[in-house]
Amino acid sequence: MIEEHTAQLQNCMYQYSRAIYRTIKDMIDPYSDPETQLESRRAVLLACEQTMERLAKDPLYFANPDKALFQDIRRHFPITAQAQVAWAVQHGVGAAIEFIQEQIEAGALDGGVARCRATTRKGKPCQRTPLPERDYCPSHQHLERTKAAA
Ligand SMILES: [Zn+2]
Repeated sequence: MIEEHTAQLQNCMYQYSRAIYRTIKDMIDPYSDPETQLESRRAVLLACEQTMERLAKDPLYFANPDKALFQDIRRHFPITAQAQVAWAVQHGVGAAIEFIQEQIEAGALDGGVARCRATTRKGKPCQRTPLPERDYCPSHQHLERTKAAA
């Protein structure tokens, strides 16, 4: 079941990588020869897809995915387009992260991802998503500080 969910999620994620690619592909260095341009397009699309695959597999522990993707692809774009590419990547990856967060909160990835370690007042395990690289969700993050202070 978990694997099935992951496959579905990845299909959705490819829509985000294609959206990013469509936004930036025409900014790829216009002064390089056609063959290099074609290679650049392939490399950019692949990098977008790999970012989304990694996000789908590892949504909580992939730090700064937008920055990582931009670093990966920036060499394919002229200096004058870099700011625009960075913005498109940030925007597109941000939308994908938002989508993943919604999936996690809806329980679509149950069992596949980390959960907040706290227990609710009703004595049930908290179902919320921990903060990045933390054991607790935003409502329970004070528990982490208590632990660190001890
Ligand atoms: Zn919690």
